Amino acid sequence: MMKKYIILLVVIFIAINLSAQELSFKMEELTAPDFIKAVDKSSKTCIIPIGVFEKHGPHLPLGTDLYMSREYTLRAVVEEYAVVFPWYYFSQINEAKHQPGTIAYSPELIWKVLQETLDELSRNGFEKIIIVNGHGGNNAFLNYFGMAQLSEPRDYALYWFRPEGNSEVRRKVREMTQNDQYDQHAGNSETSVMLAAHPEVVYQERAGEQSGVDLDRIKHLPFDYTGIWWYASFPNHYGGDGAKSSAEAGELLINSTVKQLVEMIKAVKNDTAVPELQKQFYNESANPLKTKQ
Ligand SMILES: [Zn+2]
Repeated sequence: MMKKYIILLVVIFIAINLSAQELSFKMEELTAPDFIKAVDKSSKTCIIPIGVFEKHGPHLPLGTDLYMSREYTLRAVVEEYAVVFPWYYFSQINEAKHQPGTIAYSPELIWKVLQETLDELSRNGFEKIIIVNGHGGNNAFLNYFGMAQLSEPRDYALYWFRPEGNSEVRRKVREMTQNDQYDQHAGNSETSVMLAAHPEVVYQERAGEQSGVDLDRIKHLPFDYTGIWWYASFPNHYGGDGAKSSAEAGELLINSTVKQLVEMIKAVKNDTAVPELQKQFYNESANPLKTKQ
């Protein structure tokens, strides 16, 4: 009798685990009935990893930023469940239009696609949306886009993941990769991350075929911002030297970012402040003369 009882318990345990495993976090893999469960399991939280198609030196693939933002996200949701939106590359990359393989949609379109994506996710039950951005050229766009969410009432809250560099990790990575004077676009760090995440699309032996030196062509303009600044420095879309990168260093960098992302997802899922503040703000904005002075 006891034996039967134990077998039954084991069967129930396996069944529960199997059904838990079956619920993918990748939105494209979910069936419609499972999607309903996933929205619930995620506490109505969806993550959009964002990248772009852009040259990354002579040795990394055009989709590098997409691979990276998805790698961070896919590793993080194993620890803290959230639904992950499919490959999203409709973002700001005008500064690379002179390079082969750049897909630069118009400023109006990237705004509209992102807004409509959020609207559709909201219509499908998500109340919290996290953007994980892998492309530095999106930073100004995402900042403004985030602020612009306040222009009208929304049924969701938008959160943008902004990881911080860890000085200890940086020190170890520098030791492992023998430093890189610029270490920016397609440099040691980015190449190391790609070696750790997707070595099959990294051609490290070609990293020395082109120069990643900062040309610094507008240094005569102090206290200045101009949209051509990136082209002035790195017209070759290579900033640094990827030749000395290592998968081991990449693992350290990925782990440091993923740890922060897991922490952020947990905090966002538990957050009540942003939705409440937004609600209060939208109510007050509809009637500013009634706002307490
Ligand atoms: Zn990149």
